[in-house]
Amino acid sequence: MGLETARARLVECLGQEISDKRVLAAMARVPRELFIPSDYYHSAYEDRPLSIGFGQTISQPFIVALMTQALELKGGERVLEIGAGSGYQAAILAELAKWVVSVERIPQLVESARQVLDKLGYTNVEIHVAEKTLGWVAGAPYDAIIVTAGAPRTPNLLLKQLTFGGRLVIPVGSRWEQELLKVTKKTRRNLIENLGGCRFVPLIGEGAWEE
Ligand code: SAH
Repeated sequence: MGLETARARLVECLGQEISDKRVLAAMARVPRELFIPSDYYHSAYEDRPLSIGFGQTISQPFIVALMTQALELKGGERVLEIGAGSGYQAAILAELAKWVVSVERIPQLVESARQVLDKLGYTNVEIHVAEKTLGWVAGAPYDAIIVTAGAPRTPNLLLKQLTFGGRLVIPVGSRWEQELLKVTKKTRRNLIENLGGCRFVPLIGEGAWEE
C-alpha cells in the first residue's frame, strides 16, 4: 500500500471518533512521513507514536486529532504549541489557524522541524528554542495553547498567556501517564474538561518536571 493510500485510510479511521471536518482535512494534507526518521517511513500512517530521537516521540495521530479538535480552531487564531518536537503538530496547526508559535527545548529538533516546515512552504509558523520561562510571552496572548508533553499540573504561566475564552489543551498527571485536560479560560472560574487518558514524554522545566 502506498503512503498516500495509507494516509487516506488512517484519516478515514480517525473520522469514526473525530467530528471536526477541518481537522480531518488537515491530517489528510500533511505528509507525516516527512517528520519521522526514514527508518519508520513504512509506519508513518500506523496510529501510534514514533521515536524522533533525543528520547522524544511524535504523538499518535489520534491524539493529534483529538487535541487539535479540542482547540476549536476556525482559522483566525493565534496558537501556541509547547513541544514542537518533529514539527508535525505545528504543521497541522498551521493548516487550521492564522499564526502558530511553537517552542522546543532541544535545539536539534528546532532545526529539523524548521527545515521540514520550510520545505512544505508554511509561512505562518515560527519555531523557537524554548526560553527558561514556559511558553512564549513575547507572542502572547494566544487564542489556543497546546502542550504536547505531560505536566504535573496546569501551569499558571500558560493560563496567563491565554485570552479569555481561549482553550488550553494539556496532559496532566504523573511522569508516566496523564489525563488530557481542556481548560477554557473564563473571567471567573475556568471550565475544565477531561478528554481521557494518555501518555506523553515529560514537560521539563520550571513549574513542570526536572530533567
Ligand atoms: N508535538 C510534537 C511532539 C512533541 S514530544 C510533534 O508533533 O512531533 C514533546 C516535546 O516537548 C519534546 O520534543 C521535548 O523536548 C519538548 N519539551 C519538553 N519540555 C519542554 C518545555 N518546557 N518547553 C518546550 N519544549 C519542551
